[in-house]
Amino acid sequence: MTIKVGFIGLGAMGLPMASNLVRKGFDVTGFDIDSGKVALLVSRGAKQAHSIAEAVAGAQVVVTMLPATRHVELAVLGEDGVLAHIGPNAVLMDMSTIDPAGTDKVASACAQQGIAFTDCPVGRLVLHAEKGESLFMVGGDDTTFARVEPLLQAMGNSIHRCGAVGMGTRMKVVNNYMLLVTAQVVSESLVLGTKLGLGIDTIKAVTGATTANNGQLQIAFANKVLKGDIEPGFTIDLCHKDVGLAMAAAAEQRIGMPVGAAAYAAIGAARATGYASKDYSALFHYACDLAGITPPSQ
Ligand code: NAD
Repeated sequence: MTIKVGFIGLGAMGLPMASNLVRKGFDVTGFDIDSGKVALLVSRGAKQAHSIAEAVAGAQVVVTMLPATRHVELAVLGEDGVLAHIGPNAVLMDMSTIDPAGTDKVASACAQQGIAFTDCPVGRLVLHAEKGESLFMVGGDDTTFARVEPLLQAMGNSIHRCGAVGMGTRMKVVNNYMLLVTAQVVSESLVLGTKLGLGIDTIKAVTGATTANNGQLQIAFANKVLKGDIEPGFTIDLCHKDVGLAMAAAAEQRIGMPVGAAAYAAIGAARATGYASKDYSALFHYACDLAGITPPSQ
């Protein structure tokens, strides 16, 4: 039987993810505050919702894929939000990257209302989401997981059960801390290499064959900034949000993360420029600007 899905948030990630569900036969109703994005999903075979209430009506699974904690809290807990309209037997799956405290708050509101909930943030890039090759970090019990697993299989090819509710979000914060601080290190390394007269191809080939190897240079940067494309993708604004989530979690745990603090400041400075809404691989272009060099391409 076709699973009826209400999908809320059709941005850089939500649109390709929901499109994969449509393509694979799910009965998807989409909602975004940007009606142009809903129209795009409808052109691919989904149904149109004009409100969260319409997206949620009759849905067996409600997916939220929104920018940050405040958007999720508003969309789920707000006056006319998901919990005001969701059916008693539906599952809410939040796939956004948010503050663990935000996930706990949403999970507890769901529990009070007897609604099954799973946090399931998404790893990898837009290019993976488009191909149905995303990775998922799932928090939640076996029963709830079984109900969302068909959707995850349709949108991705790597599913990681991270523990109880809230553990998917916590894993995502750790994952993005590691990769985004690495992105800043890669940017600085490319600037240094360029200043020393090395070509990007040489740097990429050599570091790719040593333990310096990393997905930021080889996949993320290689597919965006090094091709001269800095349209998002994953914006520097969202990158700053995610490192901020890690720094806040570290402060709460009384852990010092000095390298993270420096990277957070660098990303914060990039965010104060026109690069804020560009792809996070444009951290390299910002580092080039600071060094007074023209960004080389691959
Ligand atoms: P985005 O800004 O491109 O899309 C977010 C969408 O949510 C927008 O279309 C916006 O109009 C919509 N929206 C905001 N408030 C809404 C509301 N109240 N109701 C309905 N729609 C609303 O962001 P994105 O890049 O798609 O990221 C979404 C989430 O996924 C973020 O938490 C991000 O950190 C995470 N993520 C992004 C990537 C990536 O590569 N872009 C990868 C993995 C995870």
